[in-house]
Amino acid sequence: TQRVFSGIQPSGDLHLGNYLGAIRRFVPLQDQYDCLYCVVDMHAITVWQEPNDLRRATREVAAAYIAAGVDPNKAIVFNQSQVIEHAELAWVFNCIARIGWMYRMTQFKDKAGKNSENVSLGLLAYPSLMAADILLYKATHVPVGDDQKQHLELTRDIAQKFNNDYAASIAEQGLDAEYFPITEPMIAGPATRIMSLRDGTKKMSKSDPSDQSRISLLDDADGIAKKIKRATTDPEALPSEVEGLKGRAEADNLVGIYAALSDKTKAEVLKEFGGQGWGVFKPALADLAVATLGPVSSEMKRLVSDPATIDGILRDGADRARALAETTMAEVRKIVGFIR
Ligand code: ATP
Ligand code: MG
Repeated sequence: TQRVFSGIQPSGDLHLGNYLGAIRRFVPLQDQYDCLYCVVDMHAITVWQEPNDLRRATREVAAAYIAAGVDPNKAIVFNQSQVIEHAELAWVFNCIARIGWMYRMTQFKDKAGKNSENVSLGLLAYPSLMAADILLYKATHVPVGDDQKQHLELTRDIAQKFNNDYAASIAEQGLDAEYFPITEPMIAGPATRIMSLRDGTKKMSKSDPSDQSRISLLDDADGIAKKIKRATTDPEALPSEVEGLKGRAEADNLVGIYAALSDKTKAEVLKEFGGQGWGVFKPALADLAVATLGPVSSEMKRLVSDPATIDGILRDGADRARALAETTMAEVRKIVGFIR
């Protein structure tokens, strides 16, 4: 079977980048694949999270999946920490992956900044846990934003090294020589990297300290309009051809957002708005964002107002995920040589 795994960290307010780059794309996949959509709470604590904020954000991410159209009866929706095999497999992978691989990750470098000796060990090992998330279910496809591409390559390296290092033992157990699959990223299409509204060279992130840098899924119409109005841009009018966006990161980003929200290409958007100034384009973009995100936002708010129901969905999802995870982990323990 072809299996899809993806996850989002409950590490702050979900934003337009999470929605366009990940959540929205989860929905059509649930009819074609076995899908697992995880709220990766163990990843979130690689940087400090207040416990109450973590609980709230965990429910919000689950609510966002469902509000966007993920059906928890089809896809498995759960939070990572309820399936402890994620941590167990991550430990094995910590002993497969090399430290040098981790130091090369741009996400680590970005998040650690100049302070790289004083961040958590978990932040460095993050990709190892991510590999465990994916490979525990032998997922073949992983829909994520472009920023996760390097981590997915590392997942392939870890799978390959595990398959190699333990080749003899895998054969002895009578298991497939490609024990862990070599996972395919799913990073196609527009909007795989939405940039900050303040700085066209930085991606939009939950962890950006500036609330003005992102459109949050829970922002109201007024908030969305204000943030778009204040978004950094150059003073030029919009070009009428896509080539005209070269070297104009902020303009390119806003046109890209418009294209993704309206399911059009950038060329089509520029055909409509080429020659217009920001005074015309920004309000149009704000209207479109409000119209698209509004229904998701109000459904999210309705869902989080009933935490018991969300927690029940997560528990049920975790039970289904665990059943799959246990099979893999039982095999891995034998491959590695752990006695039971
Ligand atoms: P944090 O700042 O805490 O890392 P984040 O905004 O990067 O938060 P993640 O939970 O790390 O969000 O990522 C969840 C999913 O959203 C991943 O698939 C990631 O690739 C995608 N994603 C994150 N930011 C963007 C973005 N700016 N554009 C498109 N996709 C994004
Ligand atoms: Mg991130």
